Amino acid sequence: MSGRFVPVPTPETRTYWDKAAEGELWLPRCGPCAEFFFYPRAFCPACGSDDVSWARVSGRGTVESFVINHRAAPGYEGDVPYAIAFVKLAEGPRLTANILDVPQTPEHIKVGLPVEVTFEQRGDFTLPQFRPTAGEGAHQ
Ligand SMILES: [Zn+2]
Repeated sequence: MSGRFVPVPTPETRTYWDKAAEGELWLPRCGPCAEFFFYPRAFCPACGSDDVSWARVSGRGTVESFVINHRAAPGYEGDVPYAIAFVKLAEGPRLTANILDVPQTPEHIKVGLPVEVTFEQRGDFTLPQFRPTAGEGAHQ
C-alpha cells in the first residue's frame, strides 16, 4: 500500500474522519465486548454485535512494527524514504500510519517507540498520524 493515500470516507468511517478534522482520534467500540476496534465497521469483529458506538481514545501507543519505504509513489519522489508503522494503541487496536517529526531511519524509529497521535492535513483530509511522544525517543 502507499503511505500517501487519500482516504475515501464511507458511512462506517465518516465519524473517524470528522473527528480527525477536529484534531481528535475516535474509534468504534463494541458495547457487549467493551473493546475498541479498527478499522471502523458496522459490526464488532470479535462478537458480531451491531451495538457499536464511538468514543475518543488517548492517541497514545507504541510502534509494533514498521517498514521504511525507499520507493516513492508517483508524484512523491521528494518524500522518500518514509516509514509506514503499525501502531498499537493503548486501547488495543492497531493503526497503520506514518511516523512524523523524526528522521525516517531505523536509528530513530524503533519497535516499542512510544508515540502519540498527531494530525496531518492532506488535501481536504486530516489524517491521523503519529510522532514520538514528547520527552521520549528522538523528538525533534
Ligand atoms: Zn463485540
